[in-house]
Amino acid sequence: TVSPRPAPIRKLDESVINRIAAGEIINRPSNALKELIENSLDAGSTSISIGIKDGGMKLLQIQDNGHGIRTEDMHIICERFTTSKLQSYEDLSTIQTYGFRGEALASISHVAHLSITTKQADSDCAYKANYIDGKLVPSRPGGGSSPEPCAGNNGTVITAEDLFYNIPSRKTALKNTRDEYIRIFEVASRYAVHNSGVAFTCRKVGTPKADLNTQKGATTITNIRQIFGAKIASSLVEVQRSDKHLEYEFKGYVSSATHEMHKSIFLLFINHRLVDNTPIKRAVESLYTSILPKASRPFAYLDLRIKPQNVDVNVHPTKREVRFLNEDSIVGAIVDCIHTKLLDQNTSRSFAVQD
Ligand code: ADP
Ligand code: MG
Repeated sequence: TVSPRPAPIRKLDESVINRIAAGEIINRPSNALKELIENSLDAGSTSISIGIKDGGMKLLQIQDNGHGIRTEDMHIICERFTTSKLQSYEDLSTIQTYGFRGEALASISHVAHLSITTKQADSDCAYKANYIDGKLVPSRPGGGSSPEPCAGNNGTVITAEDLFYNIPSRKTALKNTRDEYIRIFEVASRYAVHNSGVAFTCRKVGTPKADLNTQKGATTITNIRQIFGAKIASSLVEVQRSDKHLEYEFKGYVSSATHEMHKSIFLLFINHRLVDNTPIKRAVESLYTSILPKASRPFAYLDLRIKPQNVDVNVHPTKREVRFLNEDSIVGAIVDCIHTKLLDQNTSRSFAVQD
């Protein structure tokens, strides 16, 4: 029944605000992981290891060998809007880092039990701290609320446990841990393909063999072969185009016209961010359907760079989507480039890209 009188308007409690906001930014384990991988890359890491329990719902852990976190910053690191990356709004138009809003760690601390162990290269020891709802909390009853010195390697280990323990509906909705692990693997492996200068591993905790294990400095093709298989890797053709006027540059690998696939595999990076862009995906898929005899689907790894000033990365809470200037023309150019390459392939003999 709707009340005939308006209810009074009140300001929500800070803790309610934070949990609602956190639920928007972190909608599932793979999102949290994406934020954590991006933080590790922002910290200049060349090695990133991921450990998972129960599809990331029980445990999501990421260890990197990046520059670490200043001990004096560990008090505020999990508060909302605390960042070392952005200072003024104008910085957003030239931002070179993945992060800028200072919301990821805060959000995770509002929906999980978070702990951070970090060591800077010139520090004698590592420091560890636990966080709940944005705040550093003592690690044992009666303990102080300061980071505690401990042993550790250079870099940072971030551990999120019991994700969504305080959002029961979300927890129930994500009970298919196999599915969540697949999404986690997808995020990790796509970042591994795009960052061939970084060694990535991803494993379920307790299993001897990592599901993802790329070597630092391996070629993109080697990583694609390892992750997506030799058949796809040997069918790839290289694509590349740039345009000074439209201010973009793009390169990548797509499966050749002779390679049959039933399901498309799409890896799209815009300015190094893993994103969804439906216009690009649709256009490339319909190109394959239209020119290939058996309505084959594409494998496509596309690395698109657009002048930062022309991109809006802040359109979506998870940063999963981005908008950019001249979208139609750029999408058209990408499709045209792939089309030309595939026709070339069809007329000449297809050749495999060599490592
Ligand atoms: P943002 O990435 O938008 O700055 P985050 O909440 O993701 O916000 O991280 C907050 C800050 O914590 C970052 O600005 C960075 O200084 C620090 N940080 C987070 N993760 C790492 C890491 N793995 N290594 C070093 N510093 C980190
Ligand atoms: Mg971040």
